Amino acid sequence: MSIINKTAAFLLAASMSSTMIAKQDDFKYVVDRFADIEVLRYQVPDFETLTLNQKLYVYYLTEAALYGRDIMWDQNCKYNLALRQLLENTYTAYSGDKANPQFVAFEKYCKQVWFGNGVHHHYSMDKFTPEFSRGFFDSIVPEASKTADYDTLLRLIFDPAFMAKRVNQAEGVDLITTSACNLYEGVTQAEVETFYDAMKDPKDATPISYGLNSKLVKENGQIVEQTYKIGGLYSEAISKIVENLEKAAQYADNETQRATIASLVKYYKTGDLKEFDNYSIIWAGDTFSKVDFINGFIENYGDPLGMRGAWESIVNFKNEAASQRTEVLSANAQWFEDRAPIDPQFRKPVVKGVSAKVITAAILAGDSYPATPIGINLPNADWIRAMHGSKSVTIENITQAYDAASQGNGFSEEFVIDQETRDLMEKYLFITDNLHTDLHECLGHGSGRLLPGVDPNAMKAHGSTLEETRADLFALYYLADPKLVELGLIDNPEAYKAEYYKYILNGYMTQLVRIEPGKDVEEAHMRNRKLIAEWCYEHGKAENVIELVKIGDKTYIKINDYDKLRNLFGQLLGEIQRIKSTGDYEAGRQLVEQYAVRIDPSLHAEVLDRYSHLDIPPYRGFVNPTYTLVKDEAGNVTDVKILHGEDYVSQQLRYSKDYSPLTHN
Ligand code: ZN
Repeated sequence: MSIINKTAAFLLAASMSSTMIAKQDDFKYVVDRFADIEVLRYQVPDFETLTLNQKLYVYYLTEAALYGRDIMWDQNCKYNLALRQLLENTYTAYSGDKANPQFVAFEKYCKQVWFGNGVHHHYSMDKFTPEFSRGFFDSIVPEASKTADYDTLLRLIFDPAFMAKRVNQAEGVDLITTSACNLYEGVTQAEVETFYDAMKDPKDATPISYGLNSKLVKENGQIVEQTYKIGGLYSEAISKIVENLEKAAQYADNETQRATIASLVKYYKTGDLKEFDNYSIIWAGDTFSKVDFINGFIENYGDPLGMRGAWESIVNFKNEAASQRTEVLSANAQWFEDRAPIDPQFRKPVVKGVSAKVITAAILAGDSYPATPIGINLPNADWIRAMHGSKSVTIENITQAYDAASQGNGFSEEFVIDQETRDLMEKYLFITDNLHTDLHECLGHGSGRLLPGVDPNAMKAHGSTLEETRADLFALYYLADPKLVELGLIDNPEAYKAEYYKYILNGYMTQLVRIEPGKDVEEAHMRNRKLIAEWCYEHGKAENVIELVKIGDKTYIKINDYDKLRNLFGQLLGEIQRIKSTGDYEAGRQLVEQYAVRIDPSLHAEVLDRYSHLDIPPYRGFVNPTYTLVKDEAGNVTDVKILHGEDYVSQQLRYSKDYSPLTHN
């Protein structure tokens, strides 16, 4: 998966961070709250330190990003753009009582539709349920807006069975005909599969990403791809994107940036997926430019068959100070490898750290707006990753906004055992959490080696759980190492305790909030955390390393000996590495089944109940800042100004007015 922590995966990270440090200033993070959504704004620190050319480069890339908005809406459902126009016309024309409960419900519905980039929830993929009546709605729709498709749009809003699910993943049915997304028309799943099977060459070592940039339709009995390109599908929107990419190119810092844009433009003009691969290769090789961006049809979660890419764009620039953390770790990768608490024969004689970049997002668009990832790892094509490498970034101004907005949500008061631990977390959780991620990504996954002849896939279905367990343990073990203080990455040798406490609390208890009663833990990262927390609890029991304390009817985690906990992390790392290096599937399976899957129902019920009393929204997303050109009297651009004041509804309405090449308002 190329996108890290898409939406709901935030729930925990974000709620956990209630105590994290964040910049104490008067920046207002929370913009809006409705249904299961909270909308935030994010800061763009150090934008003003960019050169004028870099600012202009960012400016035109953000314009290119915003012009793609309609594409995503149309991809999500073929009636979405018409629905958006109907809702917005009705919303802006309304002159009645805004406190009328029917109107309040209508406004909530509009906000949900904006957030979903259409009529379906961005995460559950289910259609939104209107809480206002059809009669009320009909009475406030301007007559001029009751166009030919009005009846269909009424059905879309009020008939729950019509276009019910954007992406259907249920087994045993035709996934294409039962999904409401607008990526296929008039074809069955079997026809789609036959169409692409005939196209694919199993011996092709550098295959294109079949179907990535087209809609597949049946025309006059023939199945054809309608390609997204200038002169093809979405031509008007892609033309505006290209126009602004070409403007941006004039302000590029170097040849590589110009070549990246030139190849992307060529792809948008031809629709040729070979060109997209060329673009991806140049883009992956640019690890040095200050400003970077993604723009295109990228992730395929919106397609029940996982082929077609949803349009998205993120413009960003490197956070130098934070990127230094990962560079220092990577430069010292061999030091960590040589001392890892594993059998020396499983250590890598020569290890290279991955230098993941930390970036600042300047705009979020398409599939990444309003809900957004906190990290990106692209390109997606396996052969490009293997032959040309990939880029892994974390978006720290987004995580910072989550942290700041989570302060005071009551999570830590409810679940953390005492004030001393809360204070420690308040002071050190933000930095140790980031360091944990850095260690996991830069060193953890790349550490260790298999014995000769061992199948890399020997762990089969448990492979990703055990691999994530290994990377997390490597990170946890070294988080407490004095080496980090020596390298200047942390200033207090006790700081690691904040992350240790959070990790055990999360793995043992609070992450269970994401699981429905009666179900098992399935997701690999959640299994990995549970495995580590429960294994350490069991194996430290004799010495009371981790204690479950009951206060009243509430369960709390108490860590009595942090040194011994570190030793337990080291022991388990040694065992997991042995399992992986020798391909001991049976031992791996037993660990997962014993510690990672089944949930104690009473503890689960308790966590769900305690959580339900806190006011924590399950999903969050963002409004973007606004960029404007500052000109002197002669009309020359002298600066690009960034503004943060816009609210959620105004931004959505402005985007529909100014960046809607496909709706011709
Ligand atoms: Zn990982």
